[in-house]
Amino acid sequence: MNASVRGDEQLGDEQLGDEQRGDEQLGDKITRCFAEIDDIGHDPSDPDSGYNRFAWTDEDAALRSWFRVRCEALGLVMEQDSAGNLWGWWLPKDVASPSRIPPRSAVTSGSHLDSVPHGGAYDGPLGVISALLAIAELRRRGFRPTRSIGVVCFSDEEGARFGKACLGSRTLTGAHSADQVLGLRDSAGVTVAEALGAQGVVPEGYGPDRELLERLAAHVELHVEQGYALAPARAPLGVATGIWPHGRWHVTFAGEANHAGTTPLAMRRDASIGLAHFVLDARRAAEEHRAVATVGRILLTPNGVNVIPSHADAWLDVRAAHDDGVDAVLTQLGSYEPQPESRTPATVFDGGTADRLVAACRKVGVAPVRLPTAAGHDAGILANAGVPTGMLFVRSVNGASHTPHEQAEIGDCILGVLALSGYLEDCAR
Ligand SMILES: [Zn+2]
Repeated sequence: MNASVRGDEQLGDEQLGDEQRGDEQLGDKITRCFAEIDDIGHDPSDPDSGYNRFAWTDEDAALRSWFRVRCEALGLVMEQDSAGNLWGWWLPKDVASPSRIPPRSAVTSGSHLDSVPHGGAYDGPLGVISALLAIAELRRRGFRPTRSIGVVCFSDEEGARFGKACLGSRTLTGAHSADQVLGLRDSAGVTVAEALGAQGVVPEGYGPDRELLERLAAHVELHVEQGYALAPARAPLGVATGIWPHGRWHVTFAGEANHAGTTPLAMRRDASIGLAHFVLDARRAAEEHRAVATVGRILLTPNGVNVIPSHADAWLDVRAAHDDGVDAVLTQLGSYEPQPESRTPATVFDGGTADRLVAACRKVGVAPVRLPTAAGHDAGILANAGVPTGMLFVRSVNGASHTPHEQAEIGDCILGVLALSGYLEDCAR
């Protein structure tokens, strides 16, 4: 897949629809964007089922198509990078096409539209919708950028289908090679290469896009807060200082299958017993080293109610404020011989970008809280690739994340869009 550009013309303000002329209140625009995609990978009549939007599925294609339509309605020039991420560009008059954007000149914002299984409405979509509406807000005010502004929809951020998070941004930046990614399989045995092909993306061109990455001067991801720090501080917005170091490990336990009724306890080799000790030891290690540890995925073989497990697979996720904390947890669990699957060191976001975000928040009357996050994001991948990057958090109502109960107040979402538009204006004036 080669980067493809379509749509050579940008709309003048006089050609924009009613929405871009500001006839609709910002809160209504946010609500309408969410409503437009609400039934994609989601049954609105069953709110507890949440959102199931996995990379390179038909649902994902519908979301990407919605993103294209929204970008084109704003007069943005569309581009798909060679890692499958979608970009909509608002180009200044002297830049003829995205490939002509000068190095380190563009300011971008966006997030992702895929979800975890039974996920919430806000994680990802709020950042994409806010970036689109921040641009709409600037257009409504008659702003003319002197540098390119981009809105991005990253592909496969959650890693729900192929097991590895941030595949779009990791491939874009070269953090993962194309070969590493294309061979990954989903639970049905379908590879990334096959999934791309099924959606009309040619896997042969899949890989890093250094030319596009080189254009970026700064990137900001707006995201719903994951946790519960802003509400107690009475702050509708937060600015991220960095991302905790984190990693995933695989642990296996051997047993011997036998009859659950006729095998005496003393004669059993039950793989689930070792697994149970491991889960409790991981919890204890996290408590002792001020970290968090989760065994969120387990597989028992043969997984029968009346069969003693012959094998257990467990996946451990560990995060801490510092790399030392993660290391200490893993050292304490060393007897289980955890095998590393991924490890991301601490990410420190760009101080200048954070200062500009704080100033943009203050301009809309908000004193934001500066805080780290324990969740991974595409923004962290870009930061680790050398792009000056920041994150803007919109207060969570209840601290819930990766569940259908994620929620943010519309008033806070409006402040997020306004702060983001102020930041983009400040960078591109
Ligand atoms: Zn997210």
